Amino acid sequence: MRAVIHALTDELQRLKSTGVKSVAVSDEAVAALRQAAKSARTTPAARVPEPRPARPAAGAAPAARQPSSFPASPEVVLPPGDKASRWGAVRELVLGDPVCLAHVNPGRKVVFGVGNLDARIFFVGEAPGADEEIQGEPFVGAAGQLLNKMIAATGLRRDEVYIGNIMNWRPQLPLGPGGTQSGNRPPTQDEMTYCLPYLRAQIEVVNPEIVVALGATATQGLLGFGTFKALGDVRGQWREFSGKPLMVTYHPSYILRNPTSRSKRTIWEDFLKVMERAGMPVSQKQRGYFLDKGGF
Ligand code: URA
Repeated sequence: MRAVIHALTDELQRLKSTGVKSVAVSDEAVAALRQAAKSARTTPAARVPEPRPARPAAGAAPAARQPSSFPASPEVVLPPGDKASRWGAVRELVLGDPVCLAHVNPGRKVVFGVGNLDARIFFVGEAPGADEEIQGEPFVGAAGQLLNKMIAATGLRRDEVYIGNIMNWRPQLPLGPGGTQSGNRPPTQDEMTYCLPYLRAQIEVVNPEIVVALGATATQGLLGFGTFKALGDVRGQWREFSGKPLMVTYHPSYILRNPTSRSKRTIWEDFLKVMERAGMPVSQKQRGYFLDKGGF
């Protein structure tokens, strides 16, 4: 519990140093903090280590509220049990994590992964956006609708795969006059490093055959900062994460920004590689998406 208090005070000090004078804490956050304190006394499933000095966010886009220091990543110890109970334990941990809660916008939610616990394919995105922090589920906004179509093009349904994010909260920007955040920013290296053990734990529980990184930020989080210059250097290639084959591809928002057959074909070719590696049937029609007819 001492480490949790350290993590909280560290974050409050950081906010203070950026000029923040007050912090809104919702009733849900207070309840979750109480719960976190209670479970820390009873089931120490995760430890938040002592805060460590800040590292420069090399390679990360500048954040509006750049952390001057950030708590060290939690250590997640998975409890014994079946998949559902282990997944539930990690979910509870994340939803009650004081660092996650301290970063959530007022009235919004920490976002945990969703999907089939026996999924063969595990998609990893960047971070929740406006829709996701309201609903508490990854990929439910415009990019999510497109991801659903891309998944459907493989012959799978959304509820047959698993979808998670590198980050469990929407990276913060200053709140507008209505007390809500408009716009998004990529997470910093420190933020992603903090959340990464939670993603690893989900991968360990689901134990998929293949992990797919969606976009440069997710790829940076999984492969490490400074491991590639441009996403084009690694896109379409097989790498490894947590002992699993990792396919790197574009984020669906790239297609939203460039809705051409060419960009769709590029991402689709990565999906074809995933299907082949997973031993999924690939029809002639699917093979020709965006060259002939069909696609998402
Ligand atoms: N983009 C992401 O990377 N993740 C989401 O959950 C939503 C949009």
